[in-house]
Amino acid sequence: MSTVLVLAELTPSGVRPATFELLTAARALGDPAAVVVGEAGDDVVAQLGNYGATTVYAVGGAAAEDYLSVPKAEALVQVAQQANPSAILITSGSEGKDIAARVAVRLDSGIVTDAVSVADEGGTIVAAQAIVAGTYHATSEVTRGPAVITMRPNATNAEQAAATPSVENVDVAISDAAKGASITARNPKVSTGRPELTDAAVVVAGGRGVGSPEGMGVIEQLADTLGGAVGATRAVTDLGWAAHDIQVGQTGKTVAPSLYVAAGVSGAIQHRAGMQSSKTIVAVNKDANAPIFAISDFGVVGDLHQVLPALVDAIAAKRG
Ligand code: FAD
Repeated sequence: MSTVLVLAELTPSGVRPATFELLTAARALGDPAAVVVGEAGDDVVAQLGNYGATTVYAVGGAAAEDYLSVPKAEALVQVAQQANPSAILITSGSEGKDIAARVAVRLDSGIVTDAVSVADEGGTIVAAQAIVAGTYHATSEVTRGPAVITMRPNATNAEQAAATPSVENVDVAISDAAKGASITARNPKVSTGRPELTDAAVVVAGGRGVGSPEGMGVIEQLADTLGGAVGATRAVTDLGWAAHDIQVGQTGKTVAPSLYVAAGVSGAIQHRAGMQSSKTIVAVNKDANAPIFAISDFGVVGDLHQVLPALVDAIAAKRG
């Protein structure tokens, strides 16, 4: 079986959940091998093994961690030259796509970005994308080199398949050019205690209908009740009612949670581009003709300032 490389991402609390989705997807294509740039401790190796990694390539030392994406791309290229994979999977995101593009150029490979699924069709690797703001489903195949594919977080479910990975320590030579930009300080964001927007299984998003910065409070309250992340439309972030880094849409973040609650959101195409792949969409809007209802699985026509607190109370009552 051919090897499929997965670029593992680490967070302070361990392996990023999106990496498990990549390992699950990789199992449909071949033999998953994780590439860890950084500290591949026992915990990390065990977590990767839980999702089927049979090999962990540990690109050692802090060296690559001290720089931006180029050393990671160089490391991945060198591991690929050694492992000869049929595909390389990377999580979509600004860094992931930067790395993927560099790897594809260096390996002279085809690249597909923002895939929502991958499959092996008779030896050909195909990737599906939701394009034109999610209104079309495109299927592509990579015909040259190992297929370099970035996958959207939350587009596929992570499923465990225990394996005991062998660990291969890899010494990679990072070029001086790759070290041109280095990280001089890290200032972690003050944690809200909520999950990362792009990783969250539940997202509650507020639109201009919240009416004011304080109006975002009901959005946050429902998100906290559901253990979800808070999102917003561009109208809301442009008005300064919420931070720009929680904007969902064409020029914001792309999310595909199990549940997306859109409250006071009209459903403009640029917003839909960032959330249309969500598995279940619930809309609350006082205008029965709002376009968001056209893509909703469940809709409530009403004032969000009444509907959302009632929902929070009902959930609390149900939980006892
Ligand atoms: P509105 O369109 O003003 O809708 C507010 C909605 O709230 C209405 O449907 C109204 O009926 C409802 N409402 C009002 N009061 C209540 C209430 N009390 N209870 C319930 N419902 C209520 N937008 C994004 O979101 N993300 C992007 O990434 C993005 N990128 C863009 C890129 C470009 C190039 C352009 C041109 C636009 C982009 N936009 C983006 C903007 C987009 O076109 C819309 O303007 C924006 O999404 C509208 O935000 P909204 O739904 O919050 O506001």
